Amino acid sequence: MSQDFDIAIIGAGIAGASTAWALLEASPNLRVVLIEMEERPGYHTTGRSAAIFIESYGGPAIVPLSRASRAFFGAPPAGFPPLLHHRPSLIIEGPDDAGGLERVAAEYDEGGVAYDWLDAAALAASPVGPMLKAEWRGRGLIEPDCHDIDVAALHQGFLRGVDGAKPTLVTNAEVTAIERRAGVWQISTRAGDLRAPIMVNAAGAWCDGVATLAGAAGKGLMPLRRTMAVLRIDPAPPADLPTVMSSDGSFYFKPDGERLWLSPHDEIPDVPHDVRPDEMDLAVVIDRFEQATTVQVKRLESSWAGLRTFAPDRLPVFGFDAAVDGLFWCAGQGGFGIQTSPAAGRLCAALLLGGNPPLDPKPYCANRPLA
Ligand SMILES: Cc1cc2nc3c(=O)[nH]c(=O)nc-3n(C[C@H](O)[C@H](O)[C@H](O)COP(=O)(O)OP(=O)(O)OC[C@H]3O[C@@H](n4cnc5c(N)ncnc54)[C@H](O)[C@@H]3O)c2cc1C
Repeated sequence: MSQDFDIAIIGAGIAGASTAWALLEASPNLRVVLIEMEERPGYHTTGRSAAIFIESYGGPAIVPLSRASRAFFGAPPAGFPPLLHHRPSLIIEGPDDAGGLERVAAEYDEGGVAYDWLDAAALAASPVGPMLKAEWRGRGLIEPDCHDIDVAALHQGFLRGVDGAKPTLVTNAEVTAIERRAGVWQISTRAGDLRAPIMVNAAGAWCDGVATLAGAAGKGLMPLRRTMAVLRIDPAPPADLPTVMSSDGSFYFKPDGERLWLSPHDEIPDVPHDVRPDEMDLAVVIDRFEQATTVQVKRLESSWAGLRTFAPDRLPVFGFDAAVDGLFWCAGQGGFGIQTSPAAGRLCAALLLGGNPPLDPKPYCANRPLA
């Protein structure tokens, strides 16, 4: 394998993979390498998501990125199978969050997101109605045009490349040292040394650490732990259950066949590592679920946790570093990195190659002031 590339991308999760794909879409002859420390790309956050597309998710400033990704998901390019399964998103309001839905509706209005109100009768008649205790069945807000995403198919599609133009993927290749010599990055990895004039930092929770290796200042990125429980419940969830979220952000759930995925919507500050769920977080969310519903939790079948990594202003960080030549940031994808990946990849490719970005990159500029 040649050790010389045009662009080296550190991290082969969805951020790195979508950027590699978009680079080759724009310029098929580029030599792009994806450098991944694990044996399997997707081992960290990308493989631990809830696999949902909800346009409003992440707030009004993220809506343009999600919206710009819709056409890709709706009609995926050659090489991708169908990626979406329709599943609306429903926000419900509990007894301790009166007015919570008005707060959510105001955010939807600000982002221009389409939604409908459900009154008590409509909520009771919806697939979730029979599951809810009376005090959670007052009213709801439904965002109809939401979906489950086939994350593995999306990620693999990006890694396969475009029309035969494929990124080189090097796994088991933790980057341990980075040096810039005569305008070229010398990247030392556990699988050997690689060189490229441009280096993309797409290392997820590890981005600030990778920047430090390259001699750049970090962005104050915060990895926040999120937990997911997989439950067997009685009765089993209906297949047409929406993704159901509480307006106070204390839980959300969605079906996965006979099982239910349930998350406490937690955001526990953590450090970059192979994160595991905490028993207490699992117990807390099962209790919250039992307080809100009439169904019986038969057992906790499995669980996982992942790190959602945010910049201090909770917007992604895309673009060349202002102080360190040839270093490009692709970081801070928080809780929306899967659903925004098609547009984010193309945005990063345009910034890297000097092409036309699919949307205004200014709000996400790597050199904006970050507290
Ligand atoms: C529970 C949960 C639910 C979520 N639900 C959704 C959802 O429904 N929809 C949505 O859009 N998003 C969701 N997200 C967020 C989404 O998963 C992330 O935004 C996205 O996966 C981030 O991708 P990434 O490529 O930046 O990070 P990662 O997937 O973590 O990839 C970074 C890669 O960099 C590698 N790396 C790090 N350091 C080095 C190094 N020194 N050398 C080489 N390689 C290195 C790592 O091994 C890793 O593979 C969820 C996240 C969690 C945890």
